[in-house]
Amino acid sequence: MSSYDAIVVGAGISGAVIAERLASQQNKKVLVLEQRNHIGGNCYDYKDENGIIIHQYGPHLFHTNKQEVWNYLSQFTEWYPYEHKVLSSVDGKLVPIPFNFSSLEKMYSYTKSEELKELLLEEYGEGARVAILDLMKSTHPQLNELAQLIYDKFFVNYTTKQWGVKPEDISPQVTARVPIVLSYDDRYFQDKWQAVPMNGYTAMFGKMLRHPNITVKLETDALDYITLQHNQIYFKNQRFKGLMIYTGMLDRLFDLVKGELPYRSLKFQYETHAYSQYQSATTVNYPNDYAFTRITEFKHIVPVDSAHTVIVKEFPGDFNTSNADFNVPYYPMFNKENASRHAEYNRLAEQFSNLKILGRLADYRYYNMDDAVANALHIYEALKI
Ligand code: UDP
Repeated sequence: MSSYDAIVVGAGISGAVIAERLASQQNKKVLVLEQRNHIGGNCYDYKDENGIIIHQYGPHLFHTNKQEVWNYLSQFTEWYPYEHKVLSSVDGKLVPIPFNFSSLEKMYSYTKSEELKELLLEEYGEGARVAILDLMKSTHPQLNELAQLIYDKFFVNYTTKQWGVKPEDISPQVTARVPIVLSYDDRYFQDKWQAVPMNGYTAMFGKMLRHPNITVKLETDALDYITLQHNQIYFKNQRFKGLMIYTGMLDRLFDLVKGELPYRSLKFQYETHAYSQYQSATTVNYPNDYAFTRITEFKHIVPVDSAHTVIVKEFPGDFNTSNADFNVPYYPMFNKENASRHAEYNRLAEQFSNLKILGRLADYRYYNMDDAVANALHIYEALKI
C-alpha cells in the first residue's frame, strides 16, 4: 500500500479534483476508492438510448462566478451554454421562480403589481435579491402581505416537503438560495458562467481521473479497509503514512461515536414518455401539490432531436441506510445542533496529521458544484506549502 502517496476516498467532484491535482501537478501516485460502480458522485450522468443526457441523481446545472473554477474545469471539457429556468406551479398557473417582477405580474392585477413593484424598488432598490425570510420582516403592510403570499404559496410547503421542517426551522441560507429578485431577470442563477459539460459530467470527471498516476477502484467501500487508531491511519491493516483525503460522511469514518449526522435524501422517479416534450421549462416546482417537489425534463438542458423525452420527479425523505428509497445522503441537515456535532467529528479528524476532510458530505455543508471545486483546489494549494 505504501506504493500510493495518497488515498482519496470518493470519486465525486472533490475527490476527482484533488486526485487530479496531486497526480498531475505533483506526480503523486493516487488511489481513489469509490463505493459506487461509477465516478462523478451525484453529478454522474449518461446518454440514454435516445441520446438524451440523463442526470442519475437529479438535475445538476453548473454555474459559477469563480474564474479559477471555470478555467480549471475548462481544461477537461467543452461547454454547452445553459441558463437554468424554473417555473412554479401555483394556483393553476406556472409562475417564474425565483419570484421576480414577471411572477408579480402573474400573481396580481396590473395596477396592484405596478404598485408593489414601486414599493419594492423604493425599499430595496433595482436588481436587489431579497431572501424570503428577510422580506417577511418588512414593516410595510403591503410588502408584508406580499411576503406572506410568497411564503405561503411558494416556500412553506416546498420546504416542508424537502426538509421535513418549515423555512424558519432550518438555516436561513437554505431558502435564501432562491431569493425574491427585483427585476425581470427570471434566470435561476445570475452567475457569470452558466453551462453544462458538452459531453456530460461523467466524461469531464473521467478525463480528470484518466491519468497514469491515478488508480480508481469502483465498488470499493473504503471503510471496509481503513482503521483509525492512536492518531494513525491503517489501510488493509498496514500503517498508511501517505495523505488520506476523505470525502464521505464524517460520522461513518468515526463509527458514529459522536452520534449520527442527519441528511435529507431523495427518491428519484424517472419516466420516459413517447412524445417530444413534457413541460415548457426544464424544471417545474410543485410546492403545494403531490409528494414530489419538482419535475425536471432533461431535453431542455441539452436539446436532442428525439420523439421521446425523459423526466424525473424528486421525492424527499430522511436519509436512512435501511430504507432503499432514501439510502443516499444528498443534503446535510444544517442547524446549530448538527453543526456542533459535526465540529466534534472535525476535531477527531484533526488529530490525524495525514487526514484531510473535503467535500459536501464530509464538510457537512450545502455546497454548490463550484464551491466543491474551489474548496478542493484550495485544499490542494494549502497542502503544497
Ligand atoms: N425553495 C422553495 N420553493 C421553491 C424553490 C426552493 O421553498 O420553489 C426552497 C427550499 O427550501 C429549497 C431551497 O429553497 O430546499 C433551495 O432550493 P434549490 O433549488 O437551491 O435546491 P436544490 O436544487 O439544491 O435542491
